Amino acid sequence: MFQGEAIRLSALGDGLLEMTFDRQGSQVNVLDGRALQEWREVNAWLATQTGIRGLLVTSAKDVFIVGADIGEFAAIFSLSDEALVSRTLDANSILNAFEDLPFPTVAAINGYALGGGLEMALSADARVMSESARIGLPEISLGIYPAYGGTVRLARLAPLGQALDWVLNAGMHTAREALDAGVVDAVAAPAQLRDEALHWLRKLASDPPGPPQRRLRKLAPVAASPYEIAQAAAPFRRQAQDAEERRHLPAARIALEMIQAACACPRAQAQALETASFPQVAKSAQAAALIRIFQNEQAVKKLHRPGAALRETPVRAGVTGAGIMGGGIAYACALKGISVRLRDVSQKQLDVGLAEARRQLERQLKGGRMTAERVQAVLGAIHPQLDGAGFESVDLAIEAVVEDPAVKRQVLSELERRLPAHAVLATNTSSLRVSDLAQGLQRPQRFAGLHFFNPVPMMPLVEVIRGEHTDADTLARATAFVLKMGKTPVVVRDCPGFLVNRVVTPYLRAFIRLVSLGADPYAIDRAMVAYGWPMGPAHLEDVVGLDTGARVLDVIAAGYGERMPVLEHDILRRMAEHGVLGQKVGAGFYLHATDAQGKATRVPNPALAPLLASVQPAGARDFTAQEIVDHLMLPMLLESARCLQEQVVSTAAELDLALLLGLGYPRYLGGALQQIDQTGWDEILRRCEPLAHLGPEYQPTPAMRDMARSGRRFFN
Ligand code: NAD
Repeated sequence: MFQGEAIRLSALGDGLLEMTFDRQGSQVNVLDGRALQEWREVNAWLATQTGIRGLLVTSAKDVFIVGADIGEFAAIFSLSDEALVSRTLDANSILNAFEDLPFPTVAAINGYALGGGLEMALSADARVMSESARIGLPEISLGIYPAYGGTVRLARLAPLGQALDWVLNAGMHTAREALDAGVVDAVAAPAQLRDEALHWLRKLASDPPGPPQRRLRKLAPVAASPYEIAQAAAPFRRQAQDAEERRHLPAARIALEMIQAACACPRAQAQALETASFPQVAKSAQAAALIRIFQNEQAVKKLHRPGAALRETPVRAGVTGAGIMGGGIAYACALKGISVRLRDVSQKQLDVGLAEARRQLERQLKGGRMTAERVQAVLGAIHPQLDGAGFESVDLAIEAVVEDPAVKRQVLSELERRLPAHAVLATNTSSLRVSDLAQGLQRPQRFAGLHFFNPVPMMPLVEVIRGEHTDADTLARATAFVLKMGKTPVVVRDCPGFLVNRVVTPYLRAFIRLVSLGADPYAIDRAMVAYGWPMGPAHLEDVVGLDTGARVLDVIAAGYGERMPVLEHDILRRMAEHGVLGQKVGAGFYLHATDAQGKATRVPNPALAPLLASVQPAGARDFTAQEIVDHLMLPMLLESARCLQEQVVSTAAELDLALLLGLGYPRYLGGALQQIDQTGWDEILRRCEPLAHLGPEYQPTPAMRDMARSGRRFFN
């Protein structure tokens, strides 16, 4: 009856039809321009027919419809406000025409119905959902909101509070949740989904004619008083404000205001409101950044696809050194069911390492997030030991002993002798060259760096360091192992600081420099938190430890002395000399304590004043927030561009994702390279100029000037 690239229509007999989403040449269905156009044609054809009693909507894929095609967003969102509104209204007219068909429609939801996919299903009269399916409106996490009538229909099908939760928190929902919220009408076992949906269609088709109640509800204003609407919105207002003020993400606030206003309107006016404020979100820099993050995640996942088979192979792991990092790595392995030997020279350290895992598991158990059996299984997967027994059957061993090259070399060669020939040997060094540590190994090709971040169970990024001799199979196995741990691996070239520490160092050096020029470290923290960082640089140094922080700077100074030489008036070093080491000793830039409720507290450390004065030869002075941001951010942006130019990682997507996951780079900026693209090199060069006298960290390279001249970008 109709056969397109995205949709086909077939007769089921008895006046019933089936509209099937089945995108040719693709694993999934998307509601892109092509699908919308075909849907419009189907609607037009249906409108000319007589004798149709009902229509079933199904998918021929494992998923219903996964949403719009994000690849189309850039072109659509670059339309003028007017053109964007009229395009969105036009798309809405397709869903409205479907909703208004003179016979009942039922959608059978399998797999995923997300974003535009769920909006499609909401335009049907009824929805039957597979028990194993998930539905949701993820748009807010991309900095936009659903604009194909999704906010309007959901607010009329579900209780308003729930509709707001679904839109503003962008969650994925189970069939049970969807049924309870009234978003779907029935739930079926996957194998019965189609039969159950057909059953619903027959039931609706045999109802007496006339617009059934379920349609009237979707056409009318929300059945709630202004007071009830305000009550339902209240809990979300604070959250939306917080997202806008602290994280610079305004979409939730804009969506909330729009939905509240649209509640009082019938369908057409409500959709007009939904469409009218859409350009405000769609054309925002924040949406561009969040969409870029999503695309970066997809691109990085794609890089890992070839290793899928390796990920299925079971791995026995071994960790040597049960300190902060080794204990954390072992625990993170065990959480993912990876059996792991944990070895140390000190029984005390082994006990400490396991006690930390036990403490975290107890907390999960108490909070009801884990069963007692699961706790036992996780603990049972960690095998603490003082000797090397069993390492001869380990597939991947990680060295996480003290950061001393002599100790590391000795541990590594002893490990190598025990390991089977196929095993991968890795080091968690944070500052030594992997290629240097490889000297003296019999199989340097099986050796790589696995740079975990602290605290390991929480931090999603692992830098996989490719040494000079590391072979492709070793890299593939190390990468597969990181994926098995549920973390994101990024392959990085073996250079001082690797990627993340290298990029953050110019930012921290700028902090030290600015303090030496007279800036107040607490004012810098306030400015950077207001800019969107999870914590300011002074607070960050307290968490890392002032001694560790000073050591990282030394490593970078040794590696890139011409550009980042040792700084003269260095507050970190001064503090480390005086034993003011940060959180671990209770005092750093801040005094750290815990209050009666066990919550961490932090106040400026009054004892810092003389140390500060000793590194501020010209005394104290004020800097504006913009000056602070420029001083700290510009050298970090330039270093990021350098890292890509020097192929420290191979793609812009990996670089930006690593900064996001490893540093907590503000999401609204997308990442350093996205921020450069968004700001434009011309503007970056202009802002660097007045700071160029501070040194090469503020001096763009010829390659950067070249990008500015040619208008080339990191992302297309
Ligand atoms: P740590 O001092 O907490 O732990 C080191 C452990 O190694 C101790 O338990 C010690 O007993 C053990 N050890 C020493 N010699 C040993 C030997 N010959 N055999 C077996 N065990 C031995 O140190 P950490 O902070 O966990 O750091 C470990 C490694 O991880 C270092 O290379 C460090 O640079 C790196 N790293 C640390 C961090 C961090 O934030 N702490 C982050 C990334 C990487």
